[in-house]
Amino acid sequence: MKLLKDKIIQDGKVLSKDVLKVDTFLNHQIDPPLMKAIGEEFAERFKDAGITKIVTIESSGIAPAMMAGLVLGVPAIFARKRKSLTLIDHLYTASVHSFTKDETNEISVSKDFVTCDDTVLIIDDFLANGQAVLGLLDIIEQASAKLAGVGIVIEKGFQPGGKMIRKQGIRVESLAIIASLEDGKVTFSEGAAV
Ligand code: 5GP
Repeated sequence: MKLLKDKIIQDGKVLSKDVLKVDTFLNHQIDPPLMKAIGEEFAERFKDAGITKIVTIESSGIAPAMMAGLVLGVPAIFARKRKSLTLIDHLYTASVHSFTKDETNEISVSKDFVTCDDTVLIIDDFLANGQAVLGLLDIIEQASAKLAGVGIVIEKGFQPGGKMIRKQGIRVESLAIIASLEDGKVTFSEGAAV
């Protein structure tokens, strides 16, 4: 997606050969027109998949998930990382090790919002080692929901998550795939590693 790649080149900061900072438009400050375009792109790619729900993880997946939900006309649900007083029971849970924070969180989704009647699109901001997506897949499986696929805003193709998930036969659509962050420079790859 050219608009997104241009934004990454313009505003992204390479923090190390593994980590890209994009908090001017995705991870802290959010760029609404860009998020709208991202939502439209996901909706276009998955328009024939019969999606009834979008599932993401708080907090950075929420903006692209909500925009895709708006265009597809379906609700967006975010898995919570902390238990809240109003969300204590009646939950699907899974463990997710965070790539950026190096900590493990238990994520949870209410059983009310994902059911065996749903066809789910998972959306997240980044795909690195695939732990966040695996946690969401676990929850969708517990709910016996159908999976349409995974939509990722930025995939780091040099890390193993994308390959691992595609190997399971799951459709992964990434709007920008980064081949390398070496020498402080972002290099994109055209296709996904398989
Ligand atoms: P994974 O679970 O695939 O290992 O990592 C994905 C999660 O880690 C994403 O939800 C995202 O929040 C975070 N993440 C992974 N790599 C990066 C990165 O290079 N930059 C930022 N900002 N977040 C990342």
